[in-house]
Amino acid sequence: MVDHVIESLSLSDDHLMRLSSKMSQELVRGLHQSTNDEAEIKMLPSFVTSTPDGSENGEFLALDLGGTNFRIILVKIQSGDSPKIQMDNQVYAISNELMTGTGTQLFDHMVNCLWDFLVERDMMCQLLPIGFTFSFPTKNLGIKQTILVNWSKGFTATGVVGEDIGQLLNDAINRKFKNFELKIMATVVNDTVGTLVSCAFDHHDTCMGLIVGTGTNMCYMEAQSNIELLNNHKTLEGEMCINTEWGAFGDNSGALDEIKTSYDIDIDRNSPNVGQHIFEKMISGMYMGELARLIIVDLSNKGHLFQSIDSNSLFYKSGFSTAFVSQILHSFPSIWCFNKINFVIVTKEINKKLCCYICESLSIRAASLCAIGVIAVARKIIEHRGQRHLVVGVDGSVYRKHPTFKSLLINTTHRLAPELNIDFQLSTDGSGRGAALVAAVESRIQHIVTQ
Ligand code: BGC
Ligand code: MG
Repeated sequence: MVDHVIESLSLSDDHLMRLSSKMSQELVRGLHQSTNDEAEIKMLPSFVTSTPDGSENGEFLALDLGGTNFRIILVKIQSGDSPKIQMDNQVYAISNELMTGTGTQLFDHMVNCLWDFLVERDMMCQLLPIGFTFSFPTKNLGIKQTILVNWSKGFTATGVVGEDIGQLLNDAINRKFKNFELKIMATVVNDTVGTLVSCAFDHHDTCMGLIVGTGTNMCYMEAQSNIELLNNHKTLEGEMCINTEWGAFGDNSGALDEIKTSYDIDIDRNSPNVGQHIFEKMISGMYMGELARLIIVDLSNKGHLFQSIDSNSLFYKSGFSTAFVSQILHSFPSIWCFNKINFVIVTKEINKKLCCYICESLSIRAASLCAIGVIAVARKIIEHRGQRHLVVGVDGSVYRKHPTFKSLLINTTHRLAPELNIDFQLSTDGSGRGAALVAAVESRIQHIVTQ
C-alpha cells in the first residue's frame, strides 16, 4: 500500500519528456488566434516590451498582492554606470475574510495600508508612480489596461473578475485620498513579469520569470511576430513578455490525467476553483502540505502509519502546511520536531521515515513537473533567439524556503535537457522590485514621448 502510493507519485524521465512535449504543444495553441479560445495555457501578452536599460531614475512605489500577503515597497532607482536600487518595504497580512469578501473591501484595505505607509514616511503629498504586482491571470489590452480573467489561490473577492485592476485601484485611491486630487494610474504586472524584469536589471540574458510560491507560473520573452493575439498592436519587431499562466496545464487537455492520484482529485474537489489550475495544484505551496496530510491520514486510517494519532492538526483541511513539509525534510533525521504543532505521535522510526519519504516524493514530483515546463518554454525561446545562454529569474516561497526543491528543479532540468544552457537566478523580492522597474521604464518612455 505504502509502496503503491509512493510509486503513483514517481514519474520516469520518458514520461516527463512526453509531458514536456505536450506542454510545448499547449504553448503554441495558446499563442495562435484560432486555438487560443480553447487552449488551456492562455499565453497572455503583458505589453511589457522593454527591460530596464540602466537609465531609469527616481522614486517609485510598488504594491504587491501575492497569494498570502500584501506588500508595499518604496523603490529608489539610481541610474549610472552601475545603477543601484534601494528598497524600503512593509508587509501587511491579507485575511481570509478579505480574500473572500468584496472587491471594494479588498481594494480599500490595500489603499488604507498605502495611506499608513505614506503617513509613516511623511510622504503624503507626493504620491509617486505606482507599479502594481497583481499575481493573478489578467488580460492586458495595453500597458495600462489589465482585466482580471479569474481568481486563483483561494481568492474569490466579488466584483473583480472582468474588471480593470488599475481602475479599481485608482477608484479606491480616489475614495481615500479625495482631498489630494491625485492623477495616478498604476502600471499593473503579473508577479512573474515583475520577477523577469527585476532579474533582467542584474542579468542581461534573463528571458524567463518563474514563481514557485503559493501558486506557480512562468513568463518569457516571445518574438512579437509570433504573438497572433496582438492583432493590430503587432509591430513585428522585438519581443514582448508573455505571461503563460501555465498553472492551467492539464485543465482541458487531460495531459495530467494519467498521473493524477486520488489525493490530487480530492485537493481539486475541495478547492474554490474546481477543475482549474491542475498543474499548479500538483506543484505549488498552497497544496503541497495538504497533499502530504491527505496521504498521511489515508495511510494511518488503513493502518500503515501512526497507530495512534493524537493530533488536532492532521484532521482538518490545511492543518499541515507546506512550511511543515519543509521542516520535516530539513530536520530529518537529526531533530524531529513534530510536537511543535501539537502532533504527539508514536515516535517509531518507521513513522518518521515514511513521513519524510512522502514529503520527499511529493517534492520530487513538484520539481520535476516544474522542470518539464521550464524545458518547454526554453525550447520555445531558442526558436527565435537561437541556442544561447538563458537566464530564468525565480522567486516564491517554495523555491526560497523548501530545503530540496531548488536543487531538485535545477538538477532535473539539466538532466532532462543537457543541451540547454539554462541558468536559474534567485530574484528575491523580484516581483515588487520588478513592478517598480516597469513603472520606471514606462516613465522613461513617456518622458521621451512627451519631450
Ligand atoms: C496565478 C498567476 C501567478 C502565480 C504565482 C497563480 O495562481 O494564476 O497569475 O503568477 O499564481 O503567484
Ligand atoms: Mg509574491
